[in-house]
Parts: sequence; structure tokens; C-alpha cells
Amino acid sequence: MTHRTQIFTGMLLSSAAALGVAVWLSTSAMREAMLSEAREGLLRDARLAAELLARLPDLPDPDLEADTLGRLTSRRLTLIADDGTVIGDSEVSREGLASVDNHNGRDEVVGARTAGHGVALRYSSTTGVTTMYAAVAVRAGPVRVVRVAVPLSGVDASVAAARRDALGGLGVALAVALLVTWLASAMLSRRLRAIAAVAERYRQGDFSQPARDYGGDEIGVVANTLDSTARALGSQLSDMARERAHTTAILSGMIEGVVLVNAAGRLVMTNPAVRSMLRLPEPSEGRHYLEVVRNPAIAEQLAASLAGRPKAAVEVELDRDHRRIYMASVVPVPAERGGGAVLVLHDVTETRRADQVRRDFVANVSHELRTPLTAIRGYVEALLDGASIDDEQRKFLEVIARHALRMERLVRDLLRLARLDAGQEPLEGVACGIPALVAAVEREMDPQIQARQQRVVTTIDPDAATVPGDPAKLHDVLRNLLENAINYSPDGGTIEITAQRRGREIEIAVADRGPGIPEADLTRIFERFYRVDRSRTRDPGGTGLGLSIVRHLVELHGGKASARLRDGGGSVVSIRLPAGAVAAGA
Ligand code: ADP
Repeated sequence: MTHRTQIFTGMLLSSAAALGVAVWLSTSAMREAMLSEAREGLLRDARLAAELLARLPDLPDPDLEADTLGRLTSRRLTLIADDGTVIGDSEVSREGLASVDNHNGRDEVVGARTAGHGVALRYSSTTGVTTMYAAVAVRAGPVRVVRVAVPLSGVDASVAAARRDALGGLGVALAVALLVTWLASAMLSRRLRAIAAVAERYRQGDFSQPARDYGGDEIGVVANTLDSTARALGSQLSDMARERAHTTAILSGMIEGVVLVNAAGRLVMTNPAVRSMLRLPEPSEGRHYLEVVRNPAIAEQLAASLAGRPKAAVEVELDRDHRRIYMASVVPVPAERGGGAVLVLHDVTETRRADQVRRDFVANVSHELRTPLTAIRGYVEALLDGASIDDEQRKFLEVIARHALRMERLVRDLLRLARLDAGQEPLEGVACGIPALVAAVEREMDPQIQARQQRVVTTIDPDAATVPGDPAKLHDVLRNLLENAINYSPDGGTIEITAQRRGREIEIAVADRGPGIPEADLTRIFERFYRVDRSRTRDPGGTGLGLSIVRHLVELHGGKASARLRDGGGSVVSIRLPAGAVAAGA
């Protein structure tokens, strides 16, 4: 049943019931009024007849009198003697009187005898219709009670006619009302159907048609509000769809593999590159990364990132092709953006190959240069030792010797870096005593310190006296730092070496009062061949490789090298090494 039919049927039934009740109530009231009026009339006539009869002391023919009074009042009139016998009745023949029942038991007669008057309403077996009786007591004479009766067939007929008319009128009114209701509900349901059709179009994603005017009534207001809400949502959805299409296009065009997993570890988005790199099953979205990512290193990266402890990028080989190397980095997605992590796989095979070629080349060239350089320096020194050279030749030979020495140092440092790059310098970790290390380096550098009239002040805290590490490598590190400090400090300057505990690390710092290092270069000085200012007035003859070897050696120990400006001028170059169990127990 449609909504419209329901409303219509409901209204029809309720209106009909209401109108029926109204008709019944009003005609019942009308019948009551008519009965009350009839009763008053009957009592009036009965009193009049009683008064007349009381004034007639002799009543030779009561039945005749009853007939006369009946005719005058146009009612049935009955005269009842004291013993209840009917002695006259306008509608019963004289002969018939004998067979009439004793009337003293009738309600209206009982009323008249006890209270002076009585009224009753009942079916008359004499006349065969429902009749109203009114009886009044007569003060004197042979008649004890006079009774007047009127049939109620007229009243009932009037009520029936009134009901008929009222129902007829109401029927017409109802029909008109129903017609109006039907038309109104037809219009209403047409509007609702139109709104539903628009909503259905929106559901299918079609927002192409302009907004309709839904009218200004309550339904119109609701429809307008829903319409504008749906349109706003629709435009947001299409913006999102466009953005998603852009993202998909970017991801599809990328050569890097990208996977987005949600906070629960399930794959949300993958691009074609990663699907082929990791041989992901189709479809892989919605599945847990542990089910589909077979590489343990990548799975570990994802697990760490999801647990809030993202790791540094790692190089991995994939099952697909063991000759290729990928850099796997996982970045966490912040919780306010839904959480999860993004994995990016970047093919670094070519970069690594180029690196290797470069390293091999540098190592080979350095190696090849070493022999001729040794020869050059040897012959130059032999010439310098000879007596057959003049001063100018000696000057030239000294320049050659200095440059040959510098080239030898360069070749030595380059070969060291090549070895470190290739991982050919394994760490031999023991507990190293820092005071002994520093003292050995100082001793080694003493000629240079003396030559420059410098002073070295060493302060080693008791809780920083030992560090786990490779003594030879740490020696090289400290030697490098002290060498720089000597080279860059002014003559007669003081160099401070300190060792201090810094939480779980031990910091060894070498501080000088030299020219300092410009702030922008503080991190760059650890790069290969980086030198702050090549036009510095004094060239200490360095190679620019010392600090990068330092950094390599310190990182091999799991530590970090850094430089800072020193208050009051000069610089501090320091290294931090993990204190480890040895120093922690010390
Ligand atoms: P070099 O052999 O040239 O000293 P390093 O790698 O040891 O090479 O140092 C790189 C550069 O850092 C140096 O050329 C120099 O400019 C700067 N540097 C290093 N130590 C100091 C220092 N103690 N004071 C000033 N500058 C320094």
C-alpha cells in the first residue's frame, strides 16, 4: 500500500467515524428534546382533564367522558377508578372495557397515586406501538386517576428522518473532503516522488542537473537543505576522486616501489612498480604485509615503523633478481593522518655500481702512483744528499721533495679510505685506556709541538678513562685531530685535550685557539677533500682527507665526529664513542 493510499484510507475511516458519531449524538439529543416536550404536553393535558373531572361530582358515563376528552385533546385518554379498574378509555369500546387489565400496577398510575403524577414509556399491547403515558390523580369524583397517552411513532419517524438527512448531507461533505484530500495527497506524493528521483540521481553520482526549486513550505525547506548538503558532499567526493586519480597516476608512473600500510599493518595502496618488485599477489590491498611481503628485512622495517621506532633505510636484495640492490626506507604516517607507514623501494644498483667503479679506480690509481712516487722521492733525496748542486738546484729539489711527500700522503690517505670503504679494516675491539692513547699520540707529535713552541694540556675524567675500541684506529683518529690542532694553532698556543663522560657516550675533544672553522663548514670538513679556505695565508700542507678518515674510523666504532666553534676563538673537534660495558663498569 503506498504512503498516499495509507494517508487517504486513514483519513477516510477517521472522518467517517467522527461524522457518524456526531450524527448519532446530535439526533439522540434531538430525540431527547422531543420526548421531553411530549412529556410536558401529556402532563399538561392530563392535569387539565383531571381538573375538569374533579369539577364533575357525578359522572354518569365515564367512558363517554373519556371519548369526549380524548377527542378534545387528540390523545388517548383513560379513566381509572380507585380500585384500578378502567372505567373509560377513548380508544376502547364500552364493551371492551371489561376485558382491560387492572391498571393500578402500571408505573405511571403508581406514580399518580403516590406522588400526584407519573410518566412512563413502554410498548402498548393495546395499540401495538411504543407509547408515552402521563397519569395525574383526580382530587374528587369517581375517577381516581386520569391517564393521557401518545404514540411515539412520530418522534421516532422524525429522528429517523433527521438522521437520514444529516447522514446524506455529511456524506456529500465527506465526498467533497475526500476529493480535496485526494487531490492534495496526489500533489504531495508527486512532489515526494520528484524529490526521491533527485536523491536517486545523486546516489548514482549524477550531480549534473541544476538544483530544483522545492518550494518554501516545510517539505521544501527539508528538501532544499538535503539537496544543498548532497551537492556539497558530491563536489567533495568528486574533488577526492580527482585527487585520487592524480595520486594513482603519479604512483603508476613512478619507478620507485611504494606501499602504504595502515596502522593495523594491512596494505592500503601499492603501485605497479612495487607489485612487480615484491611479486605481490593480486589483489594485495586489504591483506596483512606479513602475508605478502616475503623479504625479512623489509618486514622488519615495517614492523619497527608501525611500533613507533622507525629504522634507517637498508639495502636489500629481492627474490626477483639477486643482481639488483634496492634501498628500502619506511616512513611512519602520523597518527592524526590515520597512522600506518609508507615503504619506498628504490633501485640503487647503478649508483652502487658507479660507486664501486669509482672506488676501484681511485684505489688502483693510488696503488699505481705509489711506486713511481717513492722512486721520485728517493732519487730527489739522493740528489739533495750529493755535494755537486748549487743553491738554486737545492731549492728546486726541496720543492720537488715536498710535493712528492705530499703526493705520497695523498696516495696513502686515499688507499686508506678505499680500504675503509671496502670494509677491509675490521675492528679489533678491546678496552682502550684513554690516558695511554693520548700520551702515545702526544709523544709521536712532540717534535712538531716543540717546533711550534706549543703546549698540550690533557684532562681526562676518571669515568672516561676507558672506552671499548680498536687502539690502533683510535690512535690514528687522535693523531689526526692533534695534527690539525697543531697545524692551525698559532705558534706558542695551547691545545687542550679532554675526555668526558656524556651519558652513554665518551667524548674526546681537541680544542685549539686557531682561526676556528666558519659555521657553514662545521659539518662539511668531514667530507673528502673539503678544505675551508684554500687561500688561507698559511697552508699547513694537509690533504683534505684526514677528517673524512676520522669520521670513517669513528663510525666504524658506532660513534660520531663533530666540530664546533670555541668560546673565545678557535675550534673544538670532538668524537663521541659508545661507552659500552667496559667504561660503564669503570
Ligand atoms: P687537512 O689535511 O687539510 O687538514 P682535514 O680533513 O684534516 O684536512 O681537515 C679538513 C679541513 O678542515 C682543513 O682543511 C681545515 O680547513 C679545517 N680544519 C680541520 N681542523 C681544523 C682546526 N683545528 N682549526 C681550523 N680548521 C680546521
